[in-house]
Amino acid sequence: MPELPEVETIRRGLDREVVGKRVKTVQVSGTRTVRRQTKKQFISQLEGAKITSVDRRGKYLVVKLDTGELLVIHLGMSGQLLRAQAREQAQKHTHVVLTFTQGGQLRFVDPRTFGELFVTAPDELTKEIPELASLGMDPVDEPIPWVKFRELLLSRTTKLKPLLMDQSFVAGLGNIYSDEILWEAGLRHDRTPQSLSTMEIRRLYRAIVEVLHEAVKHRGSTLGDQQYVDLHGRPGEFQDLHQAYDREGQACRRCRTTIVREKVGSRSTFYCPNCQI
Ligand SMILES: [Zn+2]
Repeated sequence: MPELPEVETIRRGLDREVVGKRVKTVQVSGTRTVRRQTKKQFISQLEGAKITSVDRRGKYLVVKLDTGELLVIHLGMSGQLLRAQAREQAQKHTHVVLTFTQGGQLRFVDPRTFGELFVTAPDELTKEIPELASLGMDPVDEPIPWVKFRELLLSRTTKLKPLLMDQSFVAGLGNIYSDEILWEAGLRHDRTPQSLSTMEIRRLYRAIVEVLHEAVKHRGSTLGDQQYVDLHGRPGEFQDLHQAYDREGQACRRCRTTIVREKVGSRSTFYCPNCQI
């Protein structure tokens, strides 16, 4: 599932490629991708609208339109946004196609159909997605002061891994980057904030900022399923720099101990049993 670095990579692509473009026509197929409103409503709210900016809120893309409304895009498990020329044949599982007046298209491809698109008024956004009303810090969008981080961390009692994945603590993290951050910080996934020394809190703070910035710099992670790609269909490059995630049985690059995989709930957690303490 795409996390902050992947969604941010796509946001930057959209910022370069579709801001300033006007939607000429919209095609929607299937019944899953546009599901909060009728296809007819969705199409009529988008056709003729010009895209003025593209923001990211956690894992959601929020596209501002000159009509005052917002086009909200969530990639779900397998959603892809692809730039294409109208003459190029649409690939399988293409569910929404925006064609711009200046030529060119933006296509939403989603084999598993957990992703979605909808148009809403800005003041309705948190009604549609309550999670966005209490979204936590976004270390890429806005630097977090260290003191604030420490205060927020110590107000929680959740173990570190579920805490990192809690959207109301840090926005946009999932299974991959929480494991990478904890490896970088040298901390076990089941530590509690209260058990951390000041030094360990500093390491966690630095790891969150550094891992996410590095991951964005390398345009996110594309795993074996090849589901995440950028606007031009290119995979990310950060998977080659993973230290823990998906490295079960391989040597830790810091201490040579074998990385283990542990099932916690329904998720796999990858970590080094030696240098993550
Ligand atoms: Zn190690």
